[in-house]
Parts: sequence; C-alpha cells; structure tokens
Amino acid sequence: MGKTSPWHSILSNVHHNNTSCNTGNNIERENRRSGTGGKPLCAECARL
Ligand SMILES: [Zn+2]
Repeated sequence: MGKTSPWHSILSNVHHNNTSCNTGNNIERENRRSGTGGKPLCAECARL
C-alpha cells in the first residue's frame, strides 16, 4: 500500500496515486491510463 506512480481513468476528471484508493482500484483496465492526465488528485487519494 501507499503512494505509487499516478494513473487515471479516461472516464474520470481526477487522477490517483495511492494503491489503497478504492475508486482508483475500481477503474476498469480498458479505461485505465498511466500518468495524471493533467487532472487533479482524487480526494480519496489525498486523504490516504
Ligand atoms: Zn484516488
């Protein structure tokens, strides 16, 4: 668990950087992309 390289969903307006983030982990593989996508950090990841 903990911070890792950022990833995001092409269907979402936020990116994730924590392996404990439920929202981030629920992204379907076909919608998942590496990097921030230029999007802000997800609120759940910010708390973790
Ligand atoms: Zn997140």
